[in-house]
Amino acid sequence: MAHKPTILLVDDSPLVHQVYGPQLEDAGFEVRHAEDGIAAINTTFLEMPDVIVLDIYMPKINGYQVCRLLKDHAETRAIPIVLITSGEAHRLVDHPKHWSFATGADAYVKKGEMDLVATVQPLLGRPRGPHVATAARRAMSEIEIMTALSALLDKQLYRDVSHLQELNEKKSAFVSLVAHELKAPLAVIKGSMGNLASKKFGTLSPTQRDSVAVVQRTVDRLARLIRELLDLSRIEAGRMVLHREPVALGALLDDIITTYQGEAAAKQVVVEWQRPTDDITVTGDRDRLEQVFINLLINAIKYTPDGGLVTIALQPQASLVRVEMRDTGAGIGTADLDRIFHLFERLDPEDGQGVGLGLPIARTLVELHGGRVWAESDGTHGSTFIVELPLT
Ligand code: ADP
Repeated sequence: MAHKPTILLVDDSPLVHQVYGPQLEDAGFEVRHAEDGIAAINTTFLEMPDVIVLDIYMPKINGYQVCRLLKDHAETRAIPIVLITSGEAHRLVDHPKHWSFATGADAYVKKGEMDLVATVQPLLGRPRGPHVATAARRAMSEIEIMTALSALLDKQLYRDVSHLQELNEKKSAFVSLVAHELKAPLAVIKGSMGNLASKKFGTLSPTQRDSVAVVQRTVDRLARLIRELLDLSRIEAGRMVLHREPVALGALLDDIITTYQGEAAAKQVVVEWQRPTDDITVTGDRDRLEQVFINLLINAIKYTPDGGLVTIALQPQASLVRVEMRDTGAGIGTADLDRIFHLFERLDPEDGQGVGLGLPIARTLVELHGGRVWAESDGTHGSTFIVELPLT
């Protein structure tokens, strides 16, 4: 008599066995039954069925996990697996069809909609490596199976994380490449606009002057965004390097405040500078520290309404120096005080004033100096950004 193909039907619902068992037998299959994932794994190793029909949602270990384990094992890898689900009732993940194939299943069908015999038949015709039932094999305990599963999931997680890391590195390299490519044309536009504004090519009408000023401001914003994107890829790649030297913070803040006085004046924002008589020197990267304070000052001006006040203070403390930038803007809610230091986080994503890179980059730069930066606010009466840097 010809060998009857064996099918292992795995489901915790007795009804499924009652309905599909006889159908499969009538179609000429030898049917084996298992009620949970542990029994399914043991029956598979002991009997090496020709096909497995496996329910996704089961207690203890689910169908995806059983499928992963059997597909990871050299002896059972070639056995075709059909994952079945009742649909929405016990949804483990969205898109069960996608996940069934992702875990290695050979087919996926919904209970109720399935013609099990028609689904299983073509899988039997596939060429498979030799596999034999081993009577001598002992059944594995639940703990042994759980341990094997956990090791497998660790391996899978490691593979997934490595893949994500690789993708992330590619994305960073791409962003960096695009940002570099944008720098040169932007410099050309900036230069040409500078020539026009300085009347090198003749006097401009007031309308022309205004247009040139708009282009200059836009180019500056774009240049800042490009700088931030390049910094971000440097940070992500661990390539942000500080060039340390003695930096007199009072003098540094003098220059920054002078540079941004015009921007503040355009909004009638007063910048009050509480400069100590004796300057305070730290060891740090002048350009990077300048970048941090410019970022905080631009934000203070940007997020403070017309006619507001920005107060800057520089104070030495025991082993550190503290720079405080206080504004009279709308303030920041307690829940958002730390969030705004995270990448791309903005309190008003629609205001078109930035992309949310300035503060996270500033925090990384301050931390690379061994310092800290944070925000304080009662949520209504302005905010204070505080930078502390070590003095040694
Ligand atoms: P950007 O200003 O480009 O959006 P930042 O990382 O510099 O990015 O700031 C993140 C967010 O933090 C801003 O979008 C704003 O919502 C909030 N923020 C920053 N500084 C202030 C401030 N001085 N007052 C109120 N909100 C601020």
